[in-house]
Amino acid sequence: MNETLKRILENCRRYTLNGHVADYIPELAKANREEIGIFVATAEGDYCAGDWDKPFTIQSIVKPIFLMLAAIDNGIDFVKDHVGVEATGKPFNAIDYAEPLLLKEHINPMVNIGAIAVCGLVKASSNEERFRRLLDFTKKITGNPLLEIDKEVYESEKKTGNKNRALAYLLKNSGMIYGSVEELLDVYFAMCSVKVTCKDLANMGLLLANRGVDLCGERIIPREDAVFLNAVLTTSGMYDGSGEFATTVGIPAKSGVGGGIMADCPGRMGIGIYSPGLDKKGNSVAGIKMLEKLSEELELSIF
Ligand code: GLN
Repeated sequence: MNETLKRILENCRRYTLNGHVADYIPELAKANREEIGIFVATAEGDYCAGDWDKPFTIQSIVKPIFLMLAAIDNGIDFVKDHVGVEATGKPFNAIDYAEPLLLKEHINPMVNIGAIAVCGLVKASSNEERFRRLLDFTKKITGNPLLEIDKEVYESEKKTGNKNRALAYLLKNSGMIYGSVEELLDVYFAMCSVKVTCKDLANMGLLLANRGVDLCGERIIPREDAVFLNAVLTTSGMYDGSGEFATTVGIPAKSGVGGGIMADCPGRMGIGIYSPGLDKKGNSVAGIKMLEKLSEELELSIF
């Protein structure tokens, strides 16, 4: 398997030059688009190639983490009373929700507006506690107790994230955020800045692939929440590229503008990808190519 990963990675290396690093968060513009890594975690063992141990910020791959903890805290029905699950077909940072009031069924938890709303559903008596619970939960599902935030990226997004600020105030105006908007945004920005590696993402994927049970047999996520999440990832984890991704790769996955992709093949494996050159939709170009090849060779598609 290590040989397979190495060969796929080398074959896809040229695609890194077709992507562009995110620069709307100034600190992310410092990434090197030529980096590329992959990590596969299975019950039988781990496999890797390239820059799999290079840390990068989790960005939107935190969205399924918000959704999982919100579902664990409140139940899926409660969450679905607040946000919808239909793919929006819009860019991840879209703001054209042209209703006098936002309609919950238009708000998908895998795009920014829905993720900010779902972040607010995580139970806590303060936003410090909300952040602490989310970070602890992220440590648990990645199996990495050393995770921390990248302060530079956090400050950079906090300073420039006015579109997210606008989305959050839109939510507040529609009664979809209860407490302080600025404090909730702070939790959102901080969690987007958690530093991870491909291995962390692969371990998270493996937990979802095993429908919430870790390798020691401990149930970390209720089965129904893991199944729910995999379904949402399949329909909207790659933003407005989710349909195409379903046809070419065919497994639940979530991307982030840091260049990461977390994917899982139910019953088989978790996959972590890093390559910061992005396409216009904000998905890693070489990352998607690697997943296409891997899916083809190992027949991963769930369809
Ligand atoms: N922190 C980023 C933002 O809110 C996450 C977006 C992404 O990864 N697509 O814009």
